[in-house]
Amino acid sequence: MITHAMLLLALVTPGAPGDRLGDAVTVDHVFGHLKALQAIADAHGGNRAAGLPGYDASAAYVASKLRDAGYTVELQPFAFDFYRELAPALVRGSHAYKDARTMHFSGSGDVTARPQRAGLGCTASDFTGFVPGRIALADRGTCTFEEKAKAATAAGAKALVVIDPKETFDGSAGHPQHLPVVAVGPDTGEELGGLRRLRVMTRTESEQRITHNVIAQTPGEGRVFMVGSHLDSRQEGPGINDNGSGSAAVLEVALRTARLHPRRPVRFAWWGGEELGLLGSQHYVASLTPAERKQIRFYVNLDMIASPNYKFQIYDGDNSDGLGGGPFPKGSAGVERTLQRYFVGHGLPYAGKAFDGRSDYGPFIAAGIPAGGLSTGAEQLKTEDEAETFGGVAGEPLDGCYHQACDSLGNVDRKALEVNSAALANFVSHYAWPKS
Ligand SMILES: [Zn+2]
Repeated sequence: MITHAMLLLALVTPGAPGDRLGDAVTVDHVFGHLKALQAIADAHGGNRAAGLPGYDASAAYVASKLRDAGYTVELQPFAFDFYRELAPALVRGSHAYKDARTMHFSGSGDVTARPQRAGLGCTASDFTGFVPGRIALADRGTCTFEEKAKAATAAGAKALVVIDPKETFDGSAGHPQHLPVVAVGPDTGEELGGLRRLRVMTRTESEQRITHNVIAQTPGEGRVFMVGSHLDSRQEGPGINDNGSGSAAVLEVALRTARLHPRRPVRFAWWGGEELGLLGSQHYVASLTPAERKQIRFYVNLDMIASPNYKFQIYDGDNSDGLGGGPFPKGSAGVERTLQRYFVGHGLPYAGKAFDGRSDYGPFIAAGIPAGGLSTGAEQLKTEDEAETFGGVAGEPLDGCYHQACDSLGNVDRKALEVNSAALANFVSHYAWPKS
């Protein structure tokens, strides 16, 4: 017996590979990768940050899935400045001073010595008469903390205390230092110079480490286009929306694309060290020869695609929304239009997002490579208008767990994840299986 449903099925032509990609990429599979990334964070101290085992395990997970799907995987190494504080600073004279803070990139150490003032601590002349082995006290200002740390090291100081007479503050010594560098505010600064003995203790890890980008490409003729996302989290948390979400969608699309044998080559990338300043994508773009750069048609970036209070955003590649940023390499407008097609076709709202280079497409557009991408938002508050358009809560951040420990599986909006994963599959189909 021929049913109505069977007749209808017979009328549907078998899907082209490009259409099949959209069907194959399901939110359940994408969510499965997120669960795996959460489990990796849980097993490695709660984060997946560059230079720590949670990142390396994330990269190994992505690489092994890719290999299973037939890819040859490149793990592109690069060095970066790693830093983390293991315990709060201790500065103790007659008592422990409460306003002491470890400076970023401070060395680790426990020093007890006589403190000695060194003015601003910027130059060798500030350290004239400084007795090596003592703790240098320098006033905040005039030069960078890094310059103060270098001058103090050169003068033989065993630790450096930078004093601000007005406020408690945080600072960065620029790059990994060997000596402890701490900041103190007005409560402490006054007393220190008169002390005969001072103890300064910091517990940090401050050194160069190696991390990796994960890169894989399908076979195929002609120029390549790239799809990427950063795989690292902050040290504060597991980074499941930021950016497990983008990484999981790119991974699932990559796995399915390989099985459908695209006509045009697609290169997928998972960047390391984004949270430390786009380090992985910067390294990658800088490592390309001019000829290799020309071979890249464009780059599409996914960063945070499942924000709990989401709005669908597509990077404004031609400044048509007047949001600023740039540069706007020619071709970025086309990427934007193609990404928009999925939303238009499904009656979904979307907004432009400033092309400000605040994620891994930044180094690409800086090198003249067209780019675009998707993001559902970070710490920005949702406006009344946006709540009307996208739903969600006005006056609340788009992602209230941005860069925090609570950016876990529970911080993921499944609908946003589904829509953006499908939009990416649709986009890849369009270019990997061109109609003409
Ligand atoms: Zn991010």
